Amino acid sequence: MTAVAIVGTGPMGIYTFRALCAKPQPLHIWLFEKYSKAGIGMPYSPETASKSMLANIASIEIPSLSDTYLDWLQAQPKARLRGYGLDPTDLDDRQFTPRLLLGEYFRDQLMALVQTARSAGHAVVVREGTEVLDIRPTGAGLIVRTGSGDVEEVFDRVVLATGHVFPDSEVGVSMQPVSATVPSATKEKARERASA
Ligand SMILES: Cc1cc2nc3c(=O)[nH]c(=O)nc-3n(C[C@H](O)[C@H](O)[C@H](O)COP(=O)(O)OP(=O)(O)OC[C@H]3O[C@@H](n4cnc5c(N)ncnc54)[C@H](O)[C@@H]3O)c2cc1C
Repeated sequence: MTAVAIVGTGPMGIYTFRALCAKPQPLHIWLFEKYSKAGIGMPYSPETASKSMLANIASIEIPSLSDTYLDWLQAQPKARLRGYGLDPTDLDDRQFTPRLLLGEYFRDQLMALVQTARSAGHAVVVREGTEVLDIRPTGAGLIVRTGSGDVEEVFDRVVLATGHVFPDSEVGVSMQPVSATVPSATKEKARERASA
């Protein structure tokens, strides 16, 4: 069986996985994610975002996975949506929603795809909390090294879907809500202008 590793399970990893699962021949697919939960993606993870941060992409723009984002939103418990500041009776496909909620959608969709892939005969291994540190070519194939050592499988292909890498100095600015990045003097002036 051809063995493929996907390193990173953000949107790029998920759509790659979906495309591989559509292949008629059974594959052995390993998914590696350094965060504790696969499928969320860096901008949409609690490790980088907060409830107040909105995604700048709406359901209508997101290529559908098992469900469209709007279908998934409409199937969520009302209390869960209200907890994110959304009115369950007023959802639409052009609405910007919290990044964290979009991350939950991507994760649910990945987990559904994993089940579908297994039912279709693919062998799928999901390794969460596992950072890939190195990929080494050998005569037999590609060896993947993680924090806990070499993975037992030898891969025919490795897909790197690891997303953005920022210089450390820029991370703080990229990840902060606007309220945290606008200097207080500027905020003060904005308040004065608003009350004038
Ligand atoms: C702050 C910020 C906000 C953004 N907001 C939006 C938005 O609102 N709308 C939009 O359309 N786009 C947004 N983007 C663009 C966004 O990056 C893409 O939409 C999308 O997340 C890219 O998907 P990706 O899978 O390539 O990367 P990522 O989402 O970054 O996913 C990469 C995954 O790989 C994992 N990973 C990385 N290295 C390793 C490793 N060595 N081993 C194992 N796992 C690894 C990471 O943990 C992560 O889960 C934003 C980007 C940033 C930086």
